[in-house]
Amino acid sequence: MEKTITVFRGDGIGPEITACVLEILRAAGAGLAYEIFDVGEAEWQRNGALIPEAAYQSFEKNRILLKSPITTPIGKGFRSLNVTLRNKYDLYANIRPARSNTAVKTPFHDIDMVIFRENTEDLYVGIEEQIDENTVHATKVITRKASERIIRDAFQYARTHGRKKVTCVHKANILKMSDGLFLSIFQDIAREYPELETNDKIIDNTCMQMVMNPNQFDVLVMPNLYGDLISDLASGLIGGLGLLPSSNLGTGYAMFEAVHGSAPDIAGKHIANPTALLWSACMMLEYLKDFDSASRIRSAVDQVLAEGHVLTPDLGGHATTEEYRDAIIRRLG
Ligand code: ATP
Repeated sequence: MEKTITVFRGDGIGPEITACVLEILRAAGAGLAYEIFDVGEAEWQRNGALIPEAAYQSFEKNRILLKSPITTPIGKGFRSLNVTLRNKYDLYANIRPARSNTAVKTPFHDIDMVIFRENTEDLYVGIEEQIDENTVHATKVITRKASERIIRDAFQYARTHGRKKVTCVHKANILKMSDGLFLSIFQDIAREYPELETNDKIIDNTCMQMVMNPNQFDVLVMPNLYGDLISDLASGLIGGLGLLPSSNLGTGYAMFEAVHGSAPDIAGKHIANPTALLWSACMMLEYLKDFDSASRIRSAVDQVLAEGHVLTPDLGGHATTEEYRDAIIRRLG
């Protein structure tokens, strides 16, 4: 039976990469129907709402959202749309797999890590207070409830996916109470998974170790802000932001999106790499248990990347987004 999903087209390169991904999904025969909405800055300028009510209603009905990058207008009093969506639907687990691809040349090899980023609190609660003209305070929130569920998800993922190690990333040496709570919950839950190796690393050391010896990392779990930073760092290790997909999971809703932003500098130039959104769509297919379509798309992408003739400029090639899309479609088995 066809499953209906909601699609947000987004800003910048969003519409181009969305069109490309939907064509590949159709060509792969994924059993999906789509309710597609324009959202973001362009939509706000046209109709006065960043996310139209009908788009929210569609997500609330379908519960699955494929979302391309959205620009939040800066300096106009808007809260980040990404943060808004994650909080409104309690999409607490942001899961970002970063894997080397032999076709993409970087100095790093065989990277295969999965980052679990807590998605609803930490400094992202957006509470800032002007103390006086020259002083602003920002609030960092860490709760047992939010920490427990993301840490447990990371361990459960490691157990069910044959992973060996879970690393907790924190700054508990300075933030003794907040990150200290996160770390102590990690240590408690680790005892329930004796078959898994566990360790913890301070965020600054983690950054250095990711560059010096990234192969030591397997599953990582961390509060919101560190997750944001570490996943961009991880994307640099595997060949750039064009290759990092993600899922945002809660108890009732699931949202799949590329880690990168709307890349306004290359919008409309037909050079955007759609792979991150395409791999996010594969995570969505796997979530929907359509493993066949997901694996056919993944292997078509792997072939195109391995052949190396049709690559977008961010991967050192000269192909347009559409030429890359067509090369993938030709290789769908
Ligand atoms: P945000 O704050 O929303 O995360 P950002 O401004 O930090 O966004 P991006 O929009 O992700 O950053 O872009 C960062 C750089 O990476 C830009 O130079 C952009 O062109 C490039 N980039 C991002 N995504 C892609 C992509 N899919 N294909 C090619 N280049 C990309």
